Amino acid sequence: MHKCNADTPEPQADATTLRRRVGELEARTAQLEAQLREAQAHQARMLENSRLQNAFFATVAHDLRTPMTSIFGYAKLVRRDFERAILPLIRSNPDAMDKARRILANLQVINAEGDRLTRLINNLLDLNKMEAGQAVWRDRPVNIADCIYEALLAVAGQFADKPDVHLRANAPRELPVVQVDPDRIAQVLVNLLHNAAKFTERGHVEISALVLESGRLEICVRDTGQGIPPEDLPRIFDLFQQACLEDTLRGVRCGTGLGLAICRQIIEHYGGHIWAESQPGQGSTFRFQLPLQGVTRP
Ligand code: ADP
Repeated sequence: MHKCNADTPEPQADATTLRRRVGELEARTAQLEAQLREAQAHQARMLENSRLQNAFFATVAHDLRTPMTSIFGYAKLVRRDFERAILPLIRSNPDAMDKARRILANLQVINAEGDRLTRLINNLLDLNKMEAGQAVWRDRPVNIADCIYEALLAVAGQFADKPDVHLRANAPRELPVVQVDPDRIAQVLVNLLHNAAKFTERGHVEISALVLESGRLEICVRDTGQGIPPEDLPRIFDLFQQACLEDTLRGVRCGTGLGLAICRQIIEHYGGHIWAESQPGQGSTFRFQLPLQGVTRP
């Protein structure tokens, strides 16, 4: 006779538990299969997006850049011919000279907007390549102090137009030699200095560099400009983010919103970190740190 006690469970109860477990497992399997199908569909969508994105950037690179180069090239030629051939003929006619000045000012706008559009397209292509891992990095041992002084030279013209803003550097010549692409690091520095000049009307912009106790190299660009509202700080390194509300309200486009996104890509490519601190009305500080592993100390 069958004897039932705590150690030997009822066979019927056993079968019921087993059936329940099988049911649960089947439900779980169905759930996992549904998740797998969803993940596969998501992956297919991602691949399609990436294909479309590549096609878009190929179009931007060729179909947009080529005619644009002609348009702006011709605008420059028109200006040159106008200045050389027409202006000398109408100098004695004040009415015609008034119109001529307007034409030249309008051509100037075409040229300036052309430069901005070219920068925007080049930055977009650059960023796309970096994100796709297709950017070319020409790394070599680089003295960061050289990058700093090169960047200072590159922005000198912009500061010459701002006599109330004093540009200064506080970086020792004997900074470590780092294995990086000097053009990319200069691109970051020029962008930070360019922004500092753009958003500072008086006071100073200072670039400094030092090696931290943690063994990281820190570079800092500090300005006494308009600053950045705290709510905008977390997103200024994202694509197309601009905090210059005043300029936007006045209808003045002040940039592309791509520069800091590119800076972040470059610094993170080298295992570094970039961030900003700011006090609206008092100025902003942009800092980035680079690890110094594998670099030669002087
Ligand atoms: P943009 O081409 O618009 O300057 P960036 O990505 O370089 O693009 O900068 C994004 C935004 O961050 C700027 O539009 C501006 O609002 C803000 N910003 C950057 N640098 C500064 C600065 N030094 N002072 C104030 N605002 C700044």
